[in-house]
Amino acid sequence: MRTLIKDGTCVTASDTFAADVLIENGKIAALLAPGTQLVALDRTIDARGMYVMPGGIDAHTHMELPFGGTTASDDFHTGTVAAAHGGTTTIVDFAIQSKGSSMRAGLDAWHAKAEGKAAIDYGFHMIMTEANPSTLEDMAAMVREGVTSFKMFMAYPGVFLVDDQQIFRAMLRAGELGALITMHAEIGLPIDVLVQRALAQGHTAPVYHALTRPEIAEATGTERALALAEMAKVPVYMVHLSAQRALERVMEARDRGLPAFAETCPQYLFCSEDDLRGDPSGPDGEWKGAGYVCTPPLRPRHHHDHLWRGLANYDLQVVATDHCPFCMKDQKELGRGDFSKIPNGMPGVETRLYLLWEGVRDKRISINRFVEIVATAPAKIFGLYPKKGTIAVGADADVVVWDPEREYTLSHKTLHMRVDYSPFEGRKVIGAPAAVLSRGELIVERDQWVAGKKQGRGQFLRRGTFNL
Ligand SMILES: [Zn+2]
Repeated sequence: MRTLIKDGTCVTASDTFAADVLIENGKIAALLAPGTQLVALDRTIDARGMYVMPGGIDAHTHMELPFGGTTASDDFHTGTVAAAHGGTTTIVDFAIQSKGSSMRAGLDAWHAKAEGKAAIDYGFHMIMTEANPSTLEDMAAMVREGVTSFKMFMAYPGVFLVDDQQIFRAMLRAGELGALITMHAEIGLPIDVLVQRALAQGHTAPVYHALTRPEIAEATGTERALALAEMAKVPVYMVHLSAQRALERVMEARDRGLPAFAETCPQYLFCSEDDLRGDPSGPDGEWKGAGYVCTPPLRPRHHHDHLWRGLANYDLQVVATDHCPFCMKDQKELGRGDFSKIPNGMPGVETRLYLLWEGVRDKRISINRFVEIVATAPAKIFGLYPKKGTIAVGADADVVVWDPEREYTLSHKTLHMRVDYSPFEGRKVIGAPAAVLSRGELIVERDQWVAGKKQGRGQFLRRGTFNL
């Protein structure tokens, strides 16, 4: 199969150039002077007036995640089809080592969820709920199998929380193995006290999710995680950083030359605590805020500028989604009358590129920085580069042909995520994928799935060790 993407403008993290992209056997075979005549092409894609960019890599998703008595509403099939429609061609999801169980069992369970279902390529991180001799031993087997990053939580006491000694042991072990520790850095023990106090005072509305998880809880956790990584002499990656003071802790660490990395998510750049207050005059009143419950919580609007500046200045490296959708009906409903029982999470895997492109249009970030944030940096940090994350000879032909002029209205009715609302309902965006290719195969064209196979065409990605 030979495909040519012609007359487009290629964009990588470093360069913008006119080239025709020749794809053979699923890989980028050549970057050619525009207009080069070729014979025996099976398909030509006209990219005149469009950008040809690496497919998005979403390094933080939770397909079919069991949480709070229910399960995230997208599975690996619906979630990856939605991702592809939005220009994302790779996800890295989180498998879970459950308390008292092995990483092997967790990895097998996630392989079973994804295999035969995923429509695009996928890798796994491993969530560690305990760092004991057996799980520390398990880490080596995971790394051998291409699961080269581990996530630990300072939040969610009794479920995911691990203490500093366990985090420190896992970090030392990760250092030996060339693996990366990623951290959810809110300090969960005092947060739980604030939650109990709020409920005891009769505060049940969704906005109390934010009011009981203050910014300082994240900033302090971030500082602690950074200190532990510094003591262990290992790199560390903060997931879903949401607020100014946590960002400042990362900046201080980076200024001291430490290998500290951080991601934020579109919800922290575009939504705010006001969304959690719902719509007091609307039909759903304050309950509407339940659709915006995620963790860390949405912050007051003034944080947006700090996070955008962090992205522009390389203090934040990645925008991932923390895609973890729950329907308003039956799922978010579990927390009516008790905000602490609202399942934590928002849909996002499909809308990341649409939203972040607004940053390019508003000149907050350059187009090259856009590519770096949504594809190249996550590929490098998580051991997928240069197979994924760039437009270069030899790379997988995961390509988005991006139409910068195409208008699109975000709505749960037209988006493909399996969830009954959108946090961005009715928002008009300009710039959308015209075509999406995965390993050289045209899978989405003008919002239609066009590949023959959908279910299970995605392949598991064995990721490399940390190498930055
Ligand atoms: Zn998450």
